Amino acid sequence: MKVPYLDLQAQYQSIKAEVDQAIASVLDNSAYVLGSSVSVFEADFAKYCQTTVSIGVNNGTNALLLALKAMGIGPGDEVITAANTFIATAAAIAHSGAKPVLVDVDPISRNIDPQLIKMAMSKKTKVILPVHLYGRMADMDRIIAISEEYGLQILEDSAQAQGAEYKGRRAGSIGLMGAFSFYPGKNLGAFGEAGGITTSDVELADKVRMLRDHGSSKKYHHDLLGYNARMEGIQGAVLGVKLKYLDRWNKARNQVADWYDQELAGLPLRLPNRDDEYSQVFHVYVIETEYREQLQAYLSEHGIPTIIHYPIPIHLQKAFSFLDYRAGDFPITEKLSNEILSLPIFPEMTHEMVQEVSSEIRQFFNDR
Ligand SMILES: *Cc1c(COP(=O)(O)O)cnc(C)c1O
Repeated sequence: MKVPYLDLQAQYQSIKAEVDQAIASVLDNSAYVLGSSVSVFEADFAKYCQTTVSIGVNNGTNALLLALKAMGIGPGDEVITAANTFIATAAAIAHSGAKPVLVDVDPISRNIDPQLIKMAMSKKTKVILPVHLYGRMADMDRIIAISEEYGLQILEDSAQAQGAEYKGRRAGSIGLMGAFSFYPGKNLGAFGEAGGITTSDVELADKVRMLRDHGSSKKYHHDLLGYNARMEGIQGAVLGVKLKYLDRWNKARNQVADWYDQELAGLPLRLPNRDDEYSQVFHVYVIETEYREQLQAYLSEHGIPTIIHYPIPIHLQKAFSFLDYRAGDFPITEKLSNEILSLPIFPEMTHEMVQEVSSEIRQFFNDR
């Protein structure tokens, strides 16, 4: 049996008639940029995320950037974020003009370790930017406590966590703002590039709306130096249809994760941690083993694709050499980068497929 890493075609086929019709309606109205498909999706997504407003933009990286700009972040400021994240988180901070200040992650949750945040703070710190990595939210109570004690703002990188909850509160609703990616492979994915920002602060929302459209709220009147970061009409239409299925798909992902937990139990691997306070939405299913390279090669030889999220931590990337970090600065993140492996996971994945992947992993350890 061939098991793909993810199967976007299966998802498209399951909603083809509905999504094709939604796209056709955008084309019939020539509503290519913003327009009603985007504003309808924005209202639905805000409700879904338990916020007052959401604003559609052209990708998740710009969602982070515009949120930071709307909060007034720029040169001279510092923004604290997790060392174990996708490059876009740190890139958006740097593009705002602020300095990304990295903090190591907790080995169990693999998210930013709140205990280490205070040590990374300075007088210049303005924002804590936790990343809800792999579909599990960061330890928000402790992050909120620190933000309140020091008067900092919180921006949640929710790119991998559409629909995830922490103590009943949705990703993107806890901080002052939330930033989402709707890249095709994310839990809620467009048919191209797209992103979104959530907030319940309507003034900030107005500012983000201006920033995404050349700093204007009235055509050809530019009050701010803005960007072209508007969401396309087709993406709004696709996301509007897909949002209705998101809970079902997240549940299916979690079912796949449960199957993996059962099938891989007892092997010399670290499996994702489970905690009742976190309602996860398994964007990826990440195992840890010291034999990562050998296991990945073995699985590849047996037709099972895997990915490493991420093989080179931010602080060891050439692009961020100007931050002057060294190997050894973030030991947990560095250890994870050597031991993590993301297994195939997608809502349409069957129990048989999970058994296939798991039995190959079992075989690998038996042969050792
Ligand atoms: C995908 C992702 C982003 C960036 O989103 P794009 O839409 O690809 O620009 C930012 N942060 C994290 C954690 C992501 O996974």
